[in-house]
Amino acid sequence: MPANNECPVCGNARPLLGICPFCETSEPPTALNDVTTINIERGKPTIDDALDRLTQYLRALEDIGGIKAVIVIHGYGSSGKGGGIRTAVRQALDHAFYADRVSEYYFGEDLGVGSSAYHSVIKRRPNLKDHLRLKAGNPGMTLLLLG
Ligand SMILES: [Zn+2]
Repeated sequence: MPANNECPVCGNARPLLGICPFCETSEPPTALNDVTTINIERGKPTIDDALDRLTQYLRALEDIGGIKAVIVIHGYGSSGKGGGIRTAVRQALDHAFYADRVSEYYFGEDLGVGSSAYHSVIKRRPNLKDHLRLKAGNPGMTLLLLG
């Protein structure tokens, strides 16, 4: 995976959130790529914690600037677990909870290669093609376009 974010102090690739592991500055990183991915099901958080993670992440992206799309990995509850986070995220979006930051959103299962939603997104945001190729049609993710 190519580095997405660079420390403005030491120049190392660093995670989007938190301090730089190399020089420990709290300066936000420079985004090298305008698409980022967040996994909010990692570590099996509660639904509330998963939503908090997404809220904090979107807030941090505002400080960093330059990020135009977020791929949210929330799982889809194939075994009856994990589907709760997916439902909660999508309800929050449908209730405009993130509307101040998110201009459009697409559910993974609606973004299958060849679907009209996929073509419409790729036409406007050609650089999303590489990011979506492996995940297109995956019900465990939701694409957010930031505006
Ligand atoms: Zn650094």
